[in-house]
Amino acid sequence: MNKQLLSGFIKKLETPKKIVIIPHKNPDGDALGSCLALHFFLVKTGHSAEIISPNEYPKFLNWMPGQENIINYSTANEKTVELIEKAEIIFTLDYNQLNRIGNLENIVASSKAQKIMIDHHENPGDFADFKYSDANVGSTCEMVFELLNAFDPIKIDKSIATCLYTGIMTDTGSFRFPSTTARTHQIVSSLIEKGAQPHMIHQNIYDTASFNRLRLLGTALNNLKKIEGLPVVYITLSQKELNHNNFKKGDTEGFVNYGLSLKGVLLSVIMIENESEKIIKMSFRSKGSVDVNQFARKYFSGGGHLNAAGGKSDSSIEETVSHFIKSIETEKIIFNA
Ligand code: 5GP
Ligand code: MN
Repeated sequence: MNKQLLSGFIKKLETPKKIVIIPHKNPDGDALGSCLALHFFLVKTGHSAEIISPNEYPKFLNWMPGQENIINYSTANEKTVELIEKAEIIFTLDYNQLNRIGNLENIVASSKAQKIMIDHHENPGDFADFKYSDANVGSTCEMVFELLNAFDPIKIDKSIATCLYTGIMTDTGSFRFPSTTARTHQIVSSLIEKGAQPHMIHQNIYDTASFNRLRLLGTALNNLKKIEGLPVVYITLSQKELNHNNFKKGDTEGFVNYGLSLKGVLLSVIMIENESEKIIKMSFRSKGSVDVNQFARKYFSGGGHLNAAGGKSDSSIEETVSHFIKSIETEKIIFNA
């Protein structure tokens, strides 16, 4: 991190502040890990800090250190609104647009607090007073590490190291996506020295599946289809299929990656029906220069990164599939680049 950015942070945090830290809706390992690590650090340095999640976080993250400090906006509405209104600083972690925090958007937008964005998504928006944004970094947790390490490395303890390791591991696909760099491994090495235990974190995240999740994976793989003549596959899951397997938040995490494990496939998408929100939630994954960030922005009101993005559709699953196939046919040049 450059000197100017660091001195900006130092200035803002010189005296004890009332701080709120907010991950994106449906927080993942990187969003929650970065918020928890920053929370530990701020409290250690004399600030008063709270983490407010826009909604529930998935069960596979409920072992993370410090998670008892997370307040859920969807179940503690009044308390969270009051905290946001009284905050002097709001950290927004792991998203580039305020609409990624759902119903908290207007409350945060109208708060007088200084907003500080730390994020690694492309096309950062203008809502923050202070931005630490870098789309070349594989995870927000790496950025939080750079910040804490520049601030006071001695304060990075086992809990902080565990949270940051979790976010880096999940956002880099266990250190295999192209976003993984030598610096990623240097950071991870330092986190292990501080007490993070890779085998324990890996087991907590990847080896705690329920029977229902594996059954649902079976259904998803059964539904896998390929678009003829193109290196593209898609998976659908209807609300009925989710209900049949007693779906819980987080159960479908990672399913979309199975499509990319097929030889020659460059783009994989999963479309999941959400009856209560009346949307089809989509996750895109790609390889090489196939840009799913642009594709999701153009056709499915979404975005994200070059090789991992999300979006949504307001139509039925069948209509969403046919809109997807048409859009892919229109953009098939992206596979020849
Ligand atoms: P996932 O598919 O794991 O939900 O998300 C992949 C990436 O795309 C993440 O970095 C996430 O922040 C981003 N993303 C997911 N859904 C949306 C969305 O609806 N809009 C935007 N702009 N980004 C999204
Ligand atoms: Mn992230």
